[in-house]
Amino acid sequence: MIKGLCLDFDGTLSSFGGDFAGLVEELRNDLGLLNCDFESFARRVGAALQSDGHLDTEIALRRVLDELEVRPPPDLEEIARYAALQYARDVQPLPGAVELLEYARSQEIPMALVSNGPVDMQLGALRQVGFEGYFTAVLISGDRDVASRKPAARIFGLACTGLQTLPEETLMVGDSLENDIRGAQAYGMQAVLVTGEDRRRYEEAGVAGAQEAGDQGAVPTVANVGEVIDGWLR
Ligand SMILES: [Mg+2]
Repeated sequence: MIKGLCLDFDGTLSSFGGDFAGLVEELRNDLGLLNCDFESFARRVGAALQSDGHLDTEIALRRVLDELEVRPPPDLEEIARYAALQYARDVQPLPGAVELLEYARSQEIPMALVSNGPVDMQLGALRQVGFEGYFTAVLISGDRDVASRKPAARIFGLACTGLQTLPEETLMVGDSLENDIRGAQAYGMQAVLVTGEDRRRYEEAGVAGAQEAGDQGAVPTVANVGEVIDGWLR
């Protein structure tokens, strides 16, 4: 019996359809770092955006500048806010996402969003796709009050607390075998992997991957999650 649903955001409900390299290039310009090699700058930005603990775009950029031993420009806050807006603007819902959210709402299954990333970018993207009203709880790893990234138990624990469900009656749906599936299962939750275009990769990596995802296994897109839940509800 499923009494609560936890959903990953990126790659599960939504995807970034913009030009990430273009965004990074603009950042490099705005920060006055044209002397810094693009590849290395992009790598540092990518890594900083996946940092642990309280995280927003400004904190991530500060970290990059710190590593490069460059003094932050006076308008760093403005640059960061603009970058986060630019990012969010190009995030789109994935096919089947609205249908799943509507399905769960119609079944009165409370939902929590469980997402890794900088809090300003993720909340901006959530508003952009217009999904915020569906969630009883929103857990973003970079949020000061969460400060925990999947697959850590803490973020799943906070989600179950928000949903007021026990882990074993809560289903996590996500596209990352490591972060979403193994993380949720280690906390005692049920889990369904959304394979998307990576389906073949997961199949090759062993049906192992899919089987590890639990008896429920894997589905190609979130559009199929409703059927899985439906099967359990009966
Ligand atoms: Mg994901």
